[in-house]
Amino acid sequence: MPNDQWYASLGRKLHLDYHEPEWMTGIAEGMTPEYTSQQVRMFREAGIQSVSFFLHDHHGYCFFPTEQGKPHPHLSRDYAKAMSETLHAEGLKAVGYFCVFTNVSLKDQHPDWLVTLPDGTKPSGAWLQYESSSPCPSSPYLEEYVLPLLREAVSRYELDGIWLDGGAWLTSTLCHCTFCQQQFREATGLELPVSSPHTPKRPWPVVPTTSWSSGDSSENDVRLTEWTTQDESGDNEQWVAWRIWRRGQVQHYLNSVAEALKSIRPSLLFTDNASGRWSSPLVLTENGRFVRWLSPDELAIDFFSCDPVPMGGHHEIVLSREGRYQATIGRPFDFMNERFHRWGEWQLRSLTDFKLEFATILAVGGTCNFSDQPYPDGTLEPAVYDALREGYDFVQKREPFVLGNEPVPEVALLASGPSQLFGPLGNGRDAERPLGPVGSADTERRTDRVAGAHLLLVEGGLHCLIYDEPTLRRELSKQSAVIIPEQCLLEEATIEALDQYVRDGGRLLVTGRSGWWDEQYRWQGTERLAKILGLEIQSKLPSPIYYTRLTPELRHLQELPDMPMQLWGTAFRVQPQSAQSLADLIAPRDDVWRDGIQDEAHWQHYTTFGACPPGQKVVGPAITINHYGKGIAAFIAVDPFASYYRDGHAQTRSMVLALLELVLPTKERKLSVEKPLHMEVSLQRKDDTSVVHLVNFFAQKRLGTLIHNEQVVPVRGVQVRVRRESAPLSVTLEPEGKPLEWTYDEHVVTVQVPEVEIHAMVVIR
Ligand SMILES: [Zn+2]
Repeated sequence: MPNDQWYASLGRKLHLDYHEPEWMTGIAEGMTPEYTSQQVRMFREAGIQSVSFFLHDHHGYCFFPTEQGKPHPHLSRDYAKAMSETLHAEGLKAVGYFCVFTNVSLKDQHPDWLVTLPDGTKPSGAWLQYESSSPCPSSPYLEEYVLPLLREAVSRYELDGIWLDGGAWLTSTLCHCTFCQQQFREATGLELPVSSPHTPKRPWPVVPTTSWSSGDSSENDVRLTEWTTQDESGDNEQWVAWRIWRRGQVQHYLNSVAEALKSIRPSLLFTDNASGRWSSPLVLTENGRFVRWLSPDELAIDFFSCDPVPMGGHHEIVLSREGRYQATIGRPFDFMNERFHRWGEWQLRSLTDFKLEFATILAVGGTCNFSDQPYPDGTLEPAVYDALREGYDFVQKREPFVLGNEPVPEVALLASGPSQLFGPLGNGRDAERPLGPVGSADTERRTDRVAGAHLLLVEGGLHCLIYDEPTLRRELSKQSAVIIPEQCLLEEATIEALDQYVRDGGRLLVTGRSGWWDEQYRWQGTERLAKILGLEIQSKLPSPIYYTRLTPELRHLQELPDMPMQLWGTAFRVQPQSAQSLADLIAPRDDVWRDGIQDEAHWQHYTTFGACPPGQKVVGPAITINHYGKGIAAFIAVDPFASYYRDGHAQTRSMVLALLELVLPTKERKLSVEKPLHMEVSLQRKDDTSVVHLVNFFAQKRLGTLIHNEQVVPVRGVQVRVRRESAPLSVTLEPEGKPLEWTYDEHVVTVQVPEVEIHAMVVIR
């Protein structure tokens, strides 16, 4: 059995979050041998199979007696020993949690190891309220503090795994410590940048705690939205070089930890919080210089794990999006969901929420990792485990139909790593140019395009997976269609692979400025995908808003009305070569330009949000389709996905779904489902068995950032169609085992599902 198998085969995990400041007393006082046994029995009875517990918290305090580190000043007993031994006695796996890149004690012994901002101040780490608590990875902190302490912990305690909280944090803050200055200069010949590439609208950098309010672990956080957005020139050499150099340190950190851990306990599995996510790509550097972007299967970690919704939000959308990427990598992964609204709180959310979240994780191929938070004395609320028992019973009933499944490729969404970090921002409403009320806090992330495409496909009932470039190239021939949602930076190898893919009969949809830069953010011109698309992109157009009028052929596919449809965002003048136009691009009224001069300085703000109604002028096609080799390649000249993520305009969704009907007709899809928008579908297989997941993710309350589901309205009369080479032996609705009505015609199994409450699986054998 490969050593990562237990992580994939144990589907029900628990994480105990236990950060304790210096002044909190009675730490682990309640963890008597009797109580610890009782607590672990409670875990087992709730169906939990593996528990991660604290070794070293955000403050840098240890939960065990230590020679290498600093125990919490009020630690009453050896928590690590009590937990690891008792978990094993009850047959559960023991995983140690270790926070790496925050520490409140370093400022006394090693102030030079701390992150230093360009103004000389030393910021707090993560959410901590203590200044000077963010260690810099360029310093000897890792080698002289973290690794010896980790070695001590894994030598002393019988651990099955280590869960590190670290790498995702060390890429965010620009550091000017002496180590960074020297190492960056040696690697690149450049001085450290002192701020973002262009004049910030507000002073920068802000304190790192601000980034926590965004609920996103990458640099695509609140700080970015405070910058001007015109960083397209590619001339910010220092800034691009710094971000690549800093990201290269994560690989070094993971390799060093892996070596230290495995030299002591070779069978131990480890992961690093949020490492390997599509929105925060890692890079291979040599002597600090760029070599190439990495796919997560090249990282020295054994499985992927993270808390993708740390501050509350739409779990079912986020878990789906993150899982549909993680599932393509081929390593086990889990997602945390939380007892509480946000980390560090003590609410108990509804069981319906937990079931929906677990169902979403299972539908995308992950395992479940529920998170709780002990009281300072280490004790827990039994009522939480009464709820979890029911939640994990729901999971356990489904495990025979999901564990060991593979996701079936259908529509590939390309999330190029560097496009999440560099290049123009997404065309959310009013984004990308300083017109109108620009800079509103919730627009302008580079990741919005992939997020919007995912949301649109989930609502539209198309089964999709999200790929990075190396993984997509490897899996390209298995895809029914590929969507490139304005991925501005692309590797040459990807362009070549896509060319061959479409020639061989592949289906492709490209939007916006895809491929105009290479993977190091160097300008490559607009032509790289133009041959496949059968067009020439002639110039960038001056207005921030355009309209499109679809041809009747396209409009009728989704019964769209005959009217101009509004599109925010950067548009281009396109000259079709072999491509056919499916929609006109219409400019706004000429009156909007002062003195008739069409540039940003002469755009006049009209109406509340700076929109302007359509004029008469058609400036070219907005949507084209091209036959290239044996395949089809479509193009949308204004990326619709980022604004769909922000605004959710129904006509935008219908427009894209109509185009996809031409690119990949429903009758050719491996899976198609007649269902309401709020049902998610996915397709998995194990050997000859196909599993279709149906998740009813209806959200009850939508005010603010917290979204709750307490009562779910069942969906009735769902029709599922799955392409299959031969007639099935049986079709059942699981986990109930109920036979379903089905027909088989022209290689398609059509199944009627009478009702879905939260989650059901159609299992076709
Ligand atoms: Zn530094």
